[in-house]
Amino acid sequence: MSFSNLGLSDKVLAAVAATGYTTPTPIQEKAIPHVLARRDVLGIAQTGTGKTAAFVLPMLTLLEKGRARARMPRTLILEPTRELAAQVKENFDKYGAGQKLNVALLIGGVSFGDQDVKLMRGVDVLIATPGRLLDHTERGGLLLTGVELLVIDEADRMLDMGFIPDIERICKLVPFTRQTLFFTATMPSEIRRITETFLHNPEKVEVSKPASTAVTVTQSQVSVGREPHEKREVLRQLLREAKDLKNAIIFCNRKREVALLHRSLQKHGFGAAALHGDMDQSARMTALDQFRKGELPLLVASDVAARGLDIPEVSHVFNFDVPHHPDDYVHRIGRTGRAGRLGTAISIVSPSDQKSLLAIEKLIGQPIARTETNHIVSAEASPVPASDGEKASGDRKPRRERSRGGRNKSPRPEGSQRPEAVAAPQQPPSIGRVRPAAASREQFSEPGDHSHLPAFLLRPIRARG
Ligand code: AMP
Repeated sequence: MSFSNLGLSDKVLAAVAATGYTTPTPIQEKAIPHVLARRDVLGIAQTGTGKTAAFVLPMLTLLEKGRARARMPRTLILEPTRELAAQVKENFDKYGAGQKLNVALLIGGVSFGDQDVKLMRGVDVLIATPGRLLDHTERGGLLLTGVELLVIDEADRMLDMGFIPDIERICKLVPFTRQTLFFTATMPSEIRRITETFLHNPEKVEVSKPASTAVTVTQSQVSVGREPHEKREVLRQLLREAKDLKNAIIFCNRKREVALLHRSLQKHGFGAAALHGDMDQSARMTALDQFRKGELPLLVASDVAARGLDIPEVSHVFNFDVPHHPDDYVHRIGRTGRAGRLGTAISIVSPSDQKSLLAIEKLIGQPIARTETNHIVSAEASPVPASDGEKASGDRKPRRERSRGGRNKSPRPEGSQRPEAVAAPQQPPSIGRVRPAAASREQFSEPGDHSHLPAFLLRPIRARG
């Protein structure tokens, strides 16, 4: 099968050829003809399957005819996070370079005024996060009655983030006669209900089982004790000893843990970026950019911030915390072992993670192999405790609060967090629960002596202008 058999326009085919892609991915092959035939589509596909192009390419073809009117976008794409929205915009920029289309982003962290100016000019493709979109409609600056095609992307993630009521409101603001493309990686009952309400006789297109993990990913788990610092020590050891580690995403369950671990890794000389919902837009983009370009080989991230991001060729995924939702495990480890490449996923499991781990093993239908480290746990003082009531799902924020202005305010600005305590142990090192062996190298290193680290982990952080 080649792209030219799918019914795409010549302009779009030329743009695809320019990117070097020769064969459509299964989701593209199955979905594109239905989109061009103006059918509703229910796409069950994980990120990494090429699903973005599966809706972007036919949309570009359909949009060649017609013109946008002021404040009335012709098509609307809903994304759960700003990064995903920006990523979809990049796809339009890439494939739509030969077309004079107005593509606008409506995401938080950008001034309403600039966005209003764009909307006034008339928009062919509006890519938005639900909260910001509703803020614009409530202010009267945006009319959704001209939307011919609606894309709801990463719907299961929208559910996790509490966006479903917003999605339902938006669906009622766009014409009943619109075409709807709906993408989700999994089909929990709430998502099924939404598809039954808002899709009309959809073509169901599924490319892989929702709960399957790629066979190219080697999964393992390492047990640690209850003390938070044990996880950090074991992680550092795993990073040093990992075979073929080129770059890694390290997932934490809480935003606060992301910030703490990031600082801790930096302090220990690792080149790490952080990605979580309390960071402002430009800091998130910078972090992502540094990681994508390989300037920083480690990315510490929360689920919501990292979900769906297109980061090719990640060699390792570490679960610093085992996710509470088993689906998140599948998504996390799906960041590695993409497109047939080999990947490694290692979970660091404390006693409180055990319940979540069992749920994951049940979902993926296989046990996760246990491995041991030669780890000696030092009696490191505990860092700042996690903030009270912080949700495990990280970046979730009720709409009411968002509308009041501030987005995801941290209880304490990141810069003012107390640094991880790495002072000399108060008492002699205790032997960890794992196989006793020679003390870890770091215990005998001078502060600032990183000679034991692989060179690429020590690359300096380049300041950006
Ligand atoms: P997505 O699932 O949309 O996040 O896409 C995952 C990655 O696959 C992105 O880097 C795309 O650029 C890439 N991609 C999309 N379509 C194709 C294709 N037909 N052949 C090869 N790579 C593709």
